[in-house]
This record gives sequence, C-alpha cells and structure tokens, in this order.
Amino acid sequence: MLTQEKTMNIEWGTLPFAYFPTDFNVRVTYKNGKWLEPEVSDSEYIPIHMAATALHYGQEAFEGLKAYRGIDGKVRLFRWQENAKRMRRSAEGIMMAEVPEELFGEVIKKAVKLNAKYIPPYGTGATLYVRPLLFGSGPQVGVKPAMEYTFMVFVSPVGPYFKEGFKPVPIEIVHDYDRAAPLGTGHIKVGGNYAASMRPADRAHKEGFASVLFLDALEKKYIDEAGPANFYGIKDNTYITPQSKSILPSITNMSLEQIAKDIGLKVERRQVSVDELETFEEAGACGTAAIISPIKKIVDRSNGKVYEYGDVAGPVSTKLYEQLRGIQEGTVEDTHGWTEVIEGI
Ligand SMILES: *Cc1c(COP(=O)(O)O)cnc(C)c1O
Repeated sequence: MLTQEKTMNIEWGTLPFAYFPTDFNVRVTYKNGKWLEPEVSDSEYIPIHMAATALHYGQEAFEGLKAYRGIDGKVRLFRWQENAKRMRRSAEGIMMAEVPEELFGEVIKKAVKLNAKYIPPYGTGATLYVRPLLFGSGPQVGVKPAMEYTFMVFVSPVGPYFKEGFKPVPIEIVHDYDRAAPLGTGHIKVGGNYAASMRPADRAHKEGFASVLFLDALEKKYIDEAGPANFYGIKDNTYITPQSKSILPSITNMSLEQIAKDIGLKVERRQVSVDELETFEEAGACGTAAIISPIKKIVDRSNGKVYEYGDVAGPVSTKLYEQLRGIQEGTVEDTHGWTEVIEGI
C-alpha cells in the first residue's frame, strides 16, 4: 500500500536526475567459480564483508542504461547487449568474474519488470534508469582479486539530466587534473575513474560550468572526455570525436556516429587537438543520461581562452538528438535493430 501511494504521488514532469527508491532489485552471487541463481530483494542495502575487495582495492564496475516508455506504450531497452559487453571488458580489466550476456539481459529485464509501475509515461521527459553493478564481495587482505563477486541491478525513475532541457551549457578545460592515465583504466567503466574526476568537477560547478573537459594526460594537447561523457565537434558536414586509449567508449557516441552517417555526414574518430576547438561549428557532450548536452562555450582554465558555439543548439546536434531520442521512444524507425521491447509490461 505504501509503495502504491508513493507511486501515485510521483510528479513525473519534475523528477530530478537522482536516486529514487523502487520496490525490488535483483542480485546474483559468483562463488566457487560459477554464478548462482538470481535473487530478488526488497532491501536497499547489501550486507558486505568488511574485507571485500570492492571497498579496499576498487574492484568495482557499473553500467548505466535506460528503459523508455514509447509513444505506443511499449517499454524499450536500447542496445543493452553493448552494456553487457562493456561490463565484461570492465570485469576483465580489473580481474573480476565476467557476467555472461544472457545473465546480464535476464537480470536487467527482471529488475525493470518488477518495478514496472515506476516506468515514467511517454512525454514526461522522465525515464527509468537501470544501474547494473559488479563488485568483488569476497575478502582479501593482500592486493589480489576476490574469489567472490556480486552482480546486481537496481532501477530508479529519473527526470531529464539537464532541467533546462536541450540547452547549451558552458564547460571548462582543466590542465591540473586527469581522470585517467593513458595506459590506466579510463577505457573501462570503473568507479576509480569517477573518484578521480570528483574534485575537478566540483570546482568546475562552483566556477559556473556544467562539466570539465579533460585533456590527454601525457601531452595536455588533445581532447579526452567531457567529464562523464564523450565529446564531439561538428564542422564541414563532419562528425568528429576524439580517439584515445583513456576514453570510455560511449554507446551513445557509437550510435550518434551511425546516425550521423545515416543522415549524410562524414564521421572521423581521431585525435582532436585543443587548437581545433576554434574551427568547430558545433560541439557537444554525449552519454546515456542526456543523450546530447550541446556546448555553449568552452573556457580554458589555464589561459582564459574562450571557444564559443552559441546559446542555441546547432542544427546538426539537434537533428542527431531528435533521431536518437525518437528511436528510443519508438517515434523514429529503428533501422539498426537497436531497441528491444520488453514484453508483458
Ligand atoms: C558511461 C560513460 C560515458 C557514456 O557512455 P554511454 O554508454 O553513452 O552512456 C562516457 N564517459 C564516461 C567516462 C562514462 O563513464
């Protein structure tokens, strides 16, 4: 009764992008070399061994995807197999047990179905965020991979990442922090990278910017990532996105590259120097949370140099955003087979 009342009171249109409790989550334990059966829990807490490697040595990886209520009332997941693949790469990168794709799919769908009443209606701008989590739950005192792992998925209804909507934001280039080393863990989705990004991100927010633009850690010459999102620039009918070993391969970026080709743009994935910023007609940051955050201006914190792209989103960014959002919500034909309808909800 309590949860029903809670649901009925949700104001979908004003939901923040924040944790919101739902009824159930799903957990799976890896023990003695194999994954056990998934278990449904109604607790928001995890009993964890005090010597778990996740707590001491950062053996932790996560994913983020969304379930979208379409215009036709159907609930779609977007390219979840890519999230499964990336989580396996993260597991491999920090020596954790890998979650097989079938298990990943089964658990995310179960978590969405069990909390179906929290899937925001079409047209509210809100979606159901799905957060898979994998961590070393077994104890170790020496620096060694755990013998036991926990894979779990919870969901949370969230509002749009930017309250103002599809509106360009200012971001800040920093030279005095790196989120990842060139041969480190930047290419996998592990918590440690986020820990390293918190201090510069907090400073950027206090200085009035939506996000930080990190440069390559070695030479500080090339664009790496826009905080927790990939960067792209548009010029001469070309979609350009940086190539670097320390960038997390964004599924949104990968999809935008394809859509860019579909609508007749050229696509380049290569090193992008800071100097090239002044030649772009449009720039943006992309990721699951916002799809695209168009960039209004980039300020280089080291020398005050400003690169401006305008107060209104450019035509190419707008088109890319509308196409991808349309595919996710079922208003644009999914010609690449990226979405999967979850049956029965
Ligand atoms: C998750 C993440 C992204 C965005 O990836 P999507 O698959 O598009 O959501 C970009 N950069 C970093 C560092 C990330 O962790």
